[in-house]
Amino acid sequence: MASYDVIVIGSGPGGYVCAIRCAQLGLKTACVEGRETLGGTCLNIGCIPSKALLHASHQLHEAEENFAKMGLKGKSPSVDWTQMLAYKDDVIGQNTKGIEFLFKKNKVDWLKGWGSIPEAGKVKVGDEVHEAKNIVIATGSEPSSIPGVEIDEEIVVSSTGALALGKIPKKMIVIGAGVIGLEMGSVYRRLGSEVTVIEYLDQITPTMDVEVSKQFQKLLKKQGLEFVMGAAVQGVEKLKTKAKVTYKLKKDDSEQVLDADVVLVATGRRAFHDGLGAQDLGVEMTDRGVIKTDAHWKTSVDGVYAIGDCISGPMLAHKAEDEGMAVAETIAGQKGHVNYDVIPSVIYTWPEVASVGATEELLKKDGRAYKAGKFSFMGNGRAKAYFAGDGFVKILADKDSDRILGAHIIGPYAGDLIHEICVAMEFGAAAEDLARTCHAHPTFSEAVREAALACGDGPIHS
Ligand code: NAD
Repeated sequence: MASYDVIVIGSGPGGYVCAIRCAQLGLKTACVEGRETLGGTCLNIGCIPSKALLHASHQLHEAEENFAKMGLKGKSPSVDWTQMLAYKDDVIGQNTKGIEFLFKKNKVDWLKGWGSIPEAGKVKVGDEVHEAKNIVIATGSEPSSIPGVEIDEEIVVSSTGALALGKIPKKMIVIGAGVIGLEMGSVYRRLGSEVTVIEYLDQITPTMDVEVSKQFQKLLKKQGLEFVMGAAVQGVEKLKTKAKVTYKLKKDDSEQVLDADVVLVATGRRAFHDGLGAQDLGVEMTDRGVIKTDAHWKTSVDGVYAIGDCISGPMLAHKAEDEGMAVAETIAGQKGHVNYDVIPSVIYTWPEVASVGATEELLKKDGRAYKAGKFSFMGNGRAKAYFAGDGFVKILADKDSDRILGAHIIGPYAGDLIHEICVAMEFGAAAEDLARTCHAHPTFSEAVREAALACGDGPIHS
């Protein structure tokens, strides 16, 4: 039995970041992970592998759509699916080994196995029980399917199976037009699959700013994705080599059927804490099985904290990372803090979509006086050279104070561009502060400045 200041259960972005920060702050730290590699869902079966496939399939799309226009002639590349999966696995391996290296460098012990908490102050891994002054639950989330729909990860798949299909399907049905559905749907569309997305609501990515969401759907349709909106999937029947999806259209209550070689169920994720014994220990949960925490990530049991997807808030790796660092600081006696008003969210399609802060719909609902400064990438020279003029930057600022309240970008590298606005918001900046900041030319970032200018006297290039 070993004794630790902190044992973190789970090595996803929340857990491993927390463990490293705890060790850096002088706490004797271990991290429990039952998977063969560190990094959790994000590195092994989520963010990182999906980005590898998005990158590879985007290159193919570029070759097919744009190479000839630039004078790059010749046959478009063909897809070697086995090699593409091997490339993806290599990227995973490099990243997971990187975490192992960081654990060694920072003297974080990896306790291999699935952990449970038999009593406060104790963590059981395999047959060993370790003592811990503080325990951090960072056990993440798992895909939540539709009632009655059985995932076999071959024909009816979750995001996990979608990252390792035996072959590229001819026809794919995606249930749910959320982030996972649209990212993976984009991958397979670019690789040649016919992709139909069935969504319950009338808007894709429902929490997104509506103007962005509409433009996003338009661009995805242009890329060949088909959408069935306002349709509630009732069931999925698995046949020998394909599956049949039954859905009900809300507009006329009619029942419809579609079939495909592969059905991706991307209807959300739920908090995961199976086998921890958290409930027996007295850790309070919401009625949806989410671990309840206070403002300092403390659960209802003394010395037990929780962070990331298993608590409330957006299920985002970077939100979990921030909580991981903040809870480490809290345990070390510092003032850990997360600004939940400035958490960006990104969809890594092409174009990318990124947002931070309030949407126009939210500001309207709150009766807040605001102004919207918008700039199209059509007016950005760099975007034109990249065939990426099909999007815009929208900055929302308080009508009187000009303080930035939110920003929404659809366009090239939106996921990177959003961060200058995040920093500005952290500093309580006005749109004018961004507008008066010199931006290098020619960059995509100029579109951000132009949107900020649009909140004032107007942009130059539109
Ligand atoms: P989601 O909640 O983003 O979207 C699920 C969609 O499915 C919703 O639009 C919902 O209306 C629809 N839906 C639910 N039941 C349905 C039914 N019976 N018929 C038709 N449509 C139905 O869920 P997700 O895309 O599975 O993602 C899960 C979580 O993972 C999210 O919190 C997401 O933020 C996170 N994630 C983030 C990223 C990223 O940041 N790039 C990538 C992957 C996942």
